[in-house]
Amino acid sequence: MELGVGDVSQRAATGSLPGWDDVESLVVEAWQRNRGVDDGTVADYIPILAEADPTAFGIAVVEVDGDTHDVGDVDVAFSIQSISKAFVYALVCAEIGHEAVLERVGVDNTGLPFNSVMAVELAAGHPRNPMVNAGALATTALIPGDPADQWRFIVDGLSRFAGRALELDDVVYGSEAATNQRNRAIARLLESYGRIDRDPLEVVDVYTRQCALRVTAHDLAVMAATLADGGVNPITREQVVPATVCRDTLAVLAASGLYEHSGEWLFEIGLPGKSGVAGGVIAVVPGKAGIGTYSPPLDRAGNSVRGQRAVAFLSRALGLNLFASDAARAADTPHTSPGHTEGTPA
Ligand code: GLU
Repeated sequence: MELGVGDVSQRAATGSLPGWDDVESLVVEAWQRNRGVDDGTVADYIPILAEADPTAFGIAVVEVDGDTHDVGDVDVAFSIQSISKAFVYALVCAEIGHEAVLERVGVDNTGLPFNSVMAVELAAGHPRNPMVNAGALATTALIPGDPADQWRFIVDGLSRFAGRALELDDVVYGSEAATNQRNRAIARLLESYGRIDRDPLEVVDVYTRQCALRVTAHDLAVMAATLADGGVNPITREQVVPATVCRDTLAVLAASGLYEHSGEWLFEIGLPGKSGVAGGVIAVVPGKAGIGTYSPPLDRAGNSVRGQRAVAFLSRALGLNLFASDAARAADTPHTSPGHTEGTPA
């Protein structure tokens, strides 16, 4: 995957983001640079996802003070898919505590594809990575109550992150529910290892619904900005989850948010992020902003191609990489930026 960061020079390197006009023009440039990129393939293993418009492309940036930059198809609704894992993880940590989730689910990248059954077998059923299906199913299983309570907990919690009432996409839910044999197998395996204490098929059903919640790129930016500001929604100002939970969630996203390309993303972009197979991507700039993008064509790991490129551009141009000192930022010219290699084979 070529992220296009090699020809991007640093435009701003400040403790805070530059003024609204400067951020706006860079978001517009991120969109213009990448709208013509036609690499990647729209997901079709959930049949309805294959009908997505491959040209749709939107980038939203919401700053922690609520300032907003919306460019392109930021109001097109799509299913949140795996990006839900980040927010359900945060809500479950807030509900039952850091230690309980750490013990049951873990925080490490397995390096395996998102729907891998092997991920369960690696450590005697310990899923390790809450950002792929095995760990996400184990996380959803930890939500208290019966399946109806669990669903209410998810809809209510993710809506508070978005600052508006999110709704289920019935068509996406139905399409995935009819074809999610792998997730049912993963849940059964987790049950066999004692990692799911309730009916595993009910857990898969709640998880399938959580993945089918409809969001826009703008919603994703608000949700990411909430994680960026210690759990405070930039629009409603509600404290959705505690600041310590955000800190822990961002660490997990840094380690595992982009499937088996997570290391490559962190190396090039230096921000916690999460992607989903419908084409959404979030990136969190702690203390500053949330970024949400939508573009359905995916790379082999399941990450939106244009979304990754757009965030890579913004990270470089705005000096957002969390690991960069001022000296590193100053040295970051098109001539010294890192080369790029294709990541782990699919
Ligand atoms: N609902 C999808 C699945 O479980 C989510 C996959 C993803 O976005 O990674 O297969």
